[in-house]
Amino acid sequence: MTGNEIRTRFLEHFASREHLVLPSAPLVPHGDPSTLFISAGMQPLKPYYLGLGEPPAPRLASAQKCLRTGDIEEVGKTERHLTFFEMLGNFAPTGDYFKETAIPLAWELVTNGFGMPVQRLRVTVHPSDDQAFEIWTSSTGIPADHVTRDGTNWWGLGRGPAGPDSEIWWDRGREAGCGQPDCYPDHCKRFTEIWNLVFPQYDQRGDLSSPPSTAESIQRGVADGALVPLARPAIDTGMGLERIGFVLQDKSNVFETDLLFPLVEFVHEHSAKPTTLSEKIIADHVRAITFCIADGVVPSNEGRGYVLRRLIRRAALHGRNIGLTARLSGGAQRTVAMFKEHYPELKDRERFITETIEAETERFARTLEDGMEQFEKVASRGGGVVSGADAFRLHDTFGFPLELTRELAAERKLTVDEEGFRTAMAEQKERSRRATPLRFAITKDIPKSEFSGYDELTTETKVLAIRLGGDPVDVAMEGDEVQVFLERTPFYAESGGQIGDTGTISTAGGRVRVEDTQKPLEGSIAHLGTVITGEVRVGEMATAAVDEKRRRQIMRHHSATHLLHKALRETLGEQVVQKGSWVGPDHTTFDIPLNRAILKEELVRINRRVMEKVREALPFHESQKPYKEA
Ligand SMILES: [Zn+2]
Ligand SMILES: [Zn+2]
Repeated sequence: MTGNEIRTRFLEHFASREHLVLPSAPLVPHGDPSTLFISAGMQPLKPYYLGLGEPPAPRLASAQKCLRTGDIEEVGKTERHLTFFEMLGNFAPTGDYFKETAIPLAWELVTNGFGMPVQRLRVTVHPSDDQAFEIWTSSTGIPADHVTRDGTNWWGLGRGPAGPDSEIWWDRGREAGCGQPDCYPDHCKRFTEIWNLVFPQYDQRGDLSSPPSTAESIQRGVADGALVPLARPAIDTGMGLERIGFVLQDKSNVFETDLLFPLVEFVHEHSAKPTTLSEKIIADHVRAITFCIADGVVPSNEGRGYVLRRLIRRAALHGRNIGLTARLSGGAQRTVAMFKEHYPELKDRERFITETIEAETERFARTLEDGMEQFEKVASRGGGVVSGADAFRLHDTFGFPLELTRELAAERKLTVDEEGFRTAMAEQKERSRRATPLRFAITKDIPKSEFSGYDELTTETKVLAIRLGGDPVDVAMEGDEVQVFLERTPFYAESGGQIGDTGTISTAGGRVRVEDTQKPLEGSIAHLGTVITGEVRVGEMATAAVDEKRRRQIMRHHSATHLLHKALRETLGEQVVQKGSWVGPDHTTFDIPLNRAILKEELVRINRRVMEKVREALPFHESQKPYKEA
């Protein structure tokens, strides 16, 4: 069965069972600047699930174009990672049907529609989901011992719709895995997940006291109100087309399916020294690039355009590695030919697609050329080594990835000071971190926060403001470097020689990794960090959690400075006053004025006094309010 046939059979299966088949939404969400790309079939239908709009029909099905770049480094290295993929799904956003219908519908398609033998299928359900277990074992032909309970079968974002899910797995045979007779899905490489049926049957309104991996944790969540059963539980399913493709086409990975192989072949035929990994990466990226541009994305230095630029440049670099003689735009033309039947927009915009790729690869070639000139200068200096500073400049100014510099250096029998490269990189990060207080250019409208960190390290709170590049915004999305202001916060802002806290801020829709905390104004606390998943909005409820281990380390060092001060006074005299100190998680500094060097015996005595106090574990400091009098 070809990829096109699988897609058609899936959609026809649901069309003939009263589902309205929707065309794929564009990769770029319409009227939603907060989301970079659609990354799941349900995403364009989210408003229907949230009751914000009436779906065009109670039962829906689609093949949705998706793009995810979070695992871009894995592409080509595993059997299944891709940036662009199609997700097949059926949906009952308003609860037109639930598990009793969704499970038999799915089973019918895999066994009859796709002709998969029953004995090679397995199913997992959530440990709390007796209902799904019952339906699987009574309404389908799967043997009960092929349905296992798995605590990871839970879907949710921490707030909002959540619920158990149920996965269908393909058995690749005992020899494909650990070989043990009692092997089960997710145990080893033997089973491959092909379809996930999600049952959003709760509205999550609070934190669960333990991870939702057991029946008990769900019962407790319902009992204490963290999980509120929905009046109309919904259905949302997702099946990766490329993944079901490699199973049905009896291949060992997605790149061997007819959805990608013609592109791998195209690259292979046109390269001087083909390597499998680069071929796969170029095949994946060319497909993603083609679909992105068809949906109106053009290369730029931010947001979606930057994602596209990175894909094109990455593909171009791999092309360079393997001596690719064909143009990337040639791969795009092949992509158009492969997918135009189902996605006619590709054919309509073919010329725009190829021209955009040509222009960007030429621009990149010029940058590379400038970088090459720079590299020549560096290499001709001799010494056998490309310094870390030079490697970093090539990276920072000319966009040379380290592996390119390494490879060019190897051609000249030079080595690269990679340690120095990493140091230079870290120094630049540190510089920009230290420079952050200057970014509080407009100080008006910076909200005040209440500090809750004396009593707790995790606080339920609300997002008051978000700043992006110094400007206030309503929403920040994945990858954005932000300053977040909260109503109450346990994060300690850098002051009095003590470093700021790190940790996370989580909302229903996203999470910020807080890398530093600063005090731009008296009473204001700025959390500096990066949105690592989803999106974060002003006005949302949030959970602010300080990195506890690091904070405890800092507090220990803080206490140690008090001990040290005391020991110094006892040894060197009462005139020793603390001039300054800095307390961090890894080390502490303590400055004292002294017009002579400390004698070795004195150092020994100071050290002994401190250690004695530590051993006595004297109550040397009021622990309730660790920072107040510091
Ligand atoms: Zn196993
Ligand atoms: Zn203190």
